[in-house]
Amino acid sequence: MAHGMCFGVRDALAATQQIEHPSNVTIYGELVHNESVQAALAARGFVQMAEGARELPQTDAVLITAHGISGLERGRLASAGLQILDTTCPLVRNAHAAALALAAEGRFIVVIGMEDHVEVRGLTGDIDNFIVIADARGVVNFGAGRIGVVSQTTTAPGVFAEALGMIFTKNPEADIRVMDTICKPTRDRQEGLAELLPQIDVLVVVGGKRSRNTHELAAAAANAGVAAYHIQSAADLDASWFAPDVVVGLTAGTSTQDETMHAVHAKLLEIERSMAPTPQPCVS
Ligand code: SF4
Repeated sequence: MAHGMCFGVRDALAATQQIEHPSNVTIYGELVHNESVQAALAARGFVQMAEGARELPQTDAVLITAHGISGLERGRLASAGLQILDTTCPLVRNAHAAALALAAEGRFIVVIGMEDHVEVRGLTGDIDNFIVIADARGVVNFGAGRIGVVSQTTTAPGVFAEALGMIFTKNPEADIRVMDTICKPTRDRQEGLAELLPQIDVLVVVGGKRSRNTHELAAAAANAGVAAYHIQSAADLDASWFAPDVVVGLTAGTSTQDETMHAVHAKLLEIERSMAPTPQPCVS
C-alpha cells in the first residue's frame, strides 16, 4: 500500500513553482510538514516564517499555505499592504465554513484536533466560543445548551468517532450538531491502513516528524499491535527492524512526496534481497 502526497499539498507546491521571484515571497509557516520540501524551497530563495510567528513579512508578497489562516489574520496581512498568494486547501476552507456556520447558530464550538496546529489556529481564529480537544479524554460537560462539533481535517476518523460519542454522553442535555470535516485523503489513508494491518507484521510510515496525520497512522498501527516505524526518508530505514519472512506494510502522511515513497520502497526491496538465503551449491 502506498499513498503519496495529497492534492491539497501538491497544488500548494505546484503554485510555488509558478512564482518567478521567490525571494519576494514569504511562506507563512511551513508549506508542508516535510523537511526535504522545506529545504528545496529555501534553496529557491523563499523566505519561510516559523510556524506561529506573528511578525509581519518583510517581502512584497506572502504565501498562505494549504493549512490556511483565519479571516482575521488574512485582514491583518492585507492591511499591511502585502500581496496575498493563497494556496489554502479547499477542504480546509470547507472546515472553516462549517465552523463559522455552527458558530453563527450560536453554538459553542468543539474542535477535535491539535490545539497548537496551524490549521486549528486558523480554524478557531474567527470564533469566540470554542474549545480544542485532542481526543475523547478532553471531553467534559461543556455547560453549553447548543454545541457544534468539527474536526481538524487530518484527525483520524476513529479518534473523531470516539470523541463524538463521549461528547454526546457527557452533554446529554445539549442540542449537538456535527459537521464531519475530516478530509478524504486522510480518511482514505486510515481506511486503507485498517485493511492492511491484519495482513502485515511491521508498518513503515513515511512523513514529517510534525505531521499530525503521519503520527495518526503510526498510532493506528501501534493500537492494533503492529510494530510501526515512523521515518522521514529512505536513509532512516534500519535493516535490523526486519526479520526474514516478516510482511512489511508501507504508508505515508499527506505531505510525503512520491519520490520519497519510491526511494523507501526501493530500499525495503534491497533489504529484503539482502536477507534472502544465499543459494548453496548442490554437491553429490
Ligand atoms: S491533508 Fe486534506 S485538508 Fe490537508 S491539504 Fe491535504 S487534502 Fe487538504
